[in-house]
Amino acid sequence: MKVVVIGGGASGVITALKASRNNEVILLDGEDKILKKILLTGNGKCNFWNSDINYSKYHSYNSDLLKDIFTSSNIDNTYKFLENIGFYPVVKNGYYYPFSNQAFSVREMFLTELKNKKVKVITNSKVLDVVKEKNIFKIITNDQEYVCDKVVISCGSKSYPKTGSDGSGYTLAKKFGHNISRLSSALAPIRMNEKYLKDWNGVRCSASLNLNIDGEEYFETGELQLTDYGISGICVFNLSSIIERAILDKKDVKLSINFLPFTDDPMSFITERYNSLIDLTLEEMFESIFNYKLSHVLFKVSGINKDSRWNKLSYEERLRLIDTFTNFTVNIDEVIFDKGQVTSGGVLLSEIDINTFESKKVDGLYFTGEILDVDGICGGFNLGFAFISGCIVGDSLNA
Ligand SMILES: Cc1cc2nc3c(=O)[nH]c(=O)nc-3n(C[C@H](O)[C@H](O)[C@H](O)COP(=O)(O)OP(=O)(O)OC[C@H]3O[C@@H](n4cnc5c(N)ncnc54)[C@H](O)[C@@H]3O)c2cc1C
Repeated sequence: MKVVVIGGGASGVITALKASRNNEVILLDGEDKILKKILLTGNGKCNFWNSDINYSKYHSYNSDLLKDIFTSSNIDNTYKFLENIGFYPVVKNGYYYPFSNQAFSVREMFLTELKNKKVKVITNSKVLDVVKEKNIFKIITNDQEYVCDKVVISCGSKSYPKTGSDGSGYTLAKKFGHNISRLSSALAPIRMNEKYLKDWNGVRCSASLNLNIDGEEYFETGELQLTDYGISGICVFNLSSIIERAILDKKDVKLSINFLPFTDDPMSFITERYNSLIDLTLEEMFESIFNYKLSHVLFKVSGINKDSRWNKLSYEERLRLIDTFTNFTVNIDEVIFDKGQVTSGGVLLSEIDINTFESKKVDGLYFTGEILDVDGICGGFNLGFAFISGCIVGDSLNA
């Protein structure tokens, strides 16, 4: 069969490589180079996989279908294929990177494989329309037309449009009658509406986040980045998809930061610290715990004089200080779409066959990767899904 894959990102490339076993494959991309986004992943190191890939790490409006995608056989098959085409990992806390620690080298490896497997890669070829006439698809690009038996839409999302994923895939999907669930930003930082942002700009600290949405609680712990627009870091990214959906649904969203995540009993912790560091001021007591910029903000917000001593505070003042340190409530302005690494939402999973990723609306039409309504947390889960979906489609095209 003749197969056209639209989009030379992570999922399109894997689909093309897999499908090339039994098919003639053309890979079209609107950019001058394929795999532009992969160069940005993992801060240029390409965190391509995780040892804990399973359905619970992903969001979808059809979350009931995720279990059928992230089966151990789909996960194992995909990882074996990655090994077969040359991935050699170094694993840090379950996060997989190439041993080279270089996304660029992953791109080179893919280019070599595409050449070996005789996939015809055509760049600067933006797909403007796809039409189906009888059993044949006609692909119309900016400068040419192609005909084929099967089409795979692997156009990505609308995050980081400078890498080529400009949202045009959604238009192609809609044209074939597919519904797109609400699109929002995920793995994104949060803009806050607070006066002290300039004061804590540049601080990185260990903290935990407590998110409460209409009474339902979520926790994340990790390195928090305090910036002049708000907060960032992996723990923020991992909650951003849930926060954005809740904001759009006009739910009550409360987010607070615990800057003393290492203790469950801050009252005893501070009292013991005061007893062993007797005569120190409050600020001095916390010198090796809080960055000085953060310390400044915390005391200012608490309204407690940093030069006071713990034993001189009233019980209410101690509670107020502890509340500021461990339940520091922030006013969320927005989840910043432009800085979001991933788009949440997309082509509804209920409209594709989960075993093959073929459209239930149009025979011979398939989807892979981020264009689908699946987004994962940080840690290699999104590339993981791009590869898993690409392998599912590639295998079904070979069958
Ligand atoms: C800064 C950043 C860091 C990230 N880090 C990680 C990480 O470390 N680990 C991880 O797992 N995930 C990471 N991600 C997410 C991950 O990169 C994506 O989920 C993944 O690349 C999606 O793959 P895809 O094939 O679906 O889409 P993309 O990689 O976006 O590829 C889509 C391709 O389709 C082409 N295209 C679009 N429309 C058309 C059209 N009409 N005609 C022709 N071609 C078209 C585009 O040019 C593009 O090449 C990161 C994302 C970003 C932005």
